[in-house]
Amino acid sequence: MPDDPRPADPAADDPYRFTDHLGPATIVHVTERRSGLRGVVVIDNVAAGPAIGGLRFDPGVTTEVCFRLARAMTLKNAMAGLRHGGAKSGIVGDPRMDPADKERMVRAFAGAITELTGYIPGPDMGTNESTMAVILDEIGRAVGLPTELGGLPLDELGATGFGLAASIDVAARHLDLDLDGARVVVQGYGNVGRPVARFLAERGCRLVATADSRGAVADPQGLDLDALDRLKADGRSVADHPAQRIDGDDLVGVDCEIWIPAAGPDVLRADNVERLRARIVAQGANIPATDEAEATLHQREILVLPDFVANAGGVICGAVEYAKGSRSQAFALIDERVRANTEAVLGAAQGDGVPPRQAALAIAEARVERAMAGRRWT
Ligand code: NAD
Repeated sequence: MPDDPRPADPAADDPYRFTDHLGPATIVHVTERRSGLRGVVVIDNVAAGPAIGGLRFDPGVTTEVCFRLARAMTLKNAMAGLRHGGAKSGIVGDPRMDPADKERMVRAFAGAITELTGYIPGPDMGTNESTMAVILDEIGRAVGLPTELGGLPLDELGATGFGLAASIDVAARHLDLDLDGARVVVQGYGNVGRPVARFLAERGCRLVATADSRGAVADPQGLDLDALDRLKADGRSVADHPAQRIDGDDLVGVDCEIWIPAAGPDVLRADNVERLRARIVAQGANIPATDEAEATLHQREILVLPDFVANAGGVICGAVEYAKGSRSQAFALIDERVRANTEAVLGAAQGDGVPPRQAALAIAEARVERAMAGRRWT
């Protein structure tokens, strides 16, 4: 609707409906008639420093979704000990639109956020390093840039999968689980799922089932990761791997030690979580389990590594890029921070007899509050 000047979320009539003790600091709706831009920026909290958070290009962007994701970034960045607060932004639109029209919208969006210096955009669903190059061109700040512009290509490097494997390593020690020979299931063989399978294979694990949006396969002896990678490089599905095809819904019941959601939200729910047979659920995806499902997992003594602790590798890589650091510095920091945080969360959860998410929330919120203590405006 290029002529519609309304904000992305017309229901936003109560400006305080999201507000609590942590934020948000700023909500801005942006519209531009010539490009048809409608978008929103939620800067949740900047106590620790300018907020890093992705720009999502999606038809379903709303203020509320951006707020929830911005809060998740505040907690993730605080947990990771970064000198950055949390934010998220969105442009309402189909990411597959004509690239020239999309670039016009992104340029208009960037122009509109020039003065919002407390926000550093990064890539998210529907945007990538080329989008970030366009934003850098307009306003001189963005992370997740192309290598030629000083970027650290976090998806190519598998930064999030690397951190997730480190978190799983700590959890396995915690449970006295030997990773050598441990069976792994990955739901979503993409930028997070593919590298985590690799990093775990280096520790002796075998991938016994995986899925992408087009199908799922299983082999109790282990799937061939090289063959899976070749299929994905050819634009094909993991379901074309010569192993037993299974229904995507049945992935949840495959016997394993480590089950990794690495696709969309709410994959584990009250109606399927009882079928899960694993010792660890490592959340590569953001919000992959409902609250109810996480409560059930806790009752069943299945250890959950919460998303904002275990999948922080990508944003740590973005922060190192912003500070003009190198790949090796990024990987060293991911390893150090994700391991230390997993230890702290599992220790606190065990000590207090609470689910890891509850323990992690307490740690992250306390860090945000400490950062806020000396600041008048946050
Ligand atoms: P991606 O698009 O590279 O990969 C997602 C994979 O999931 C694809 O293989 C896709 O085919 C598959 N998929 C989609 N729907 C599915 C379904 N219903 N069943 C099975 N597979 C399905 O995305 P990504 O960057 O790997 O992100 C995955 C998740 O991890 C998202 O929740 C994202 O927010 C989160 N995450 C990503 C990063 C990162 O660094 N990329 C960092 C933190 C969190």
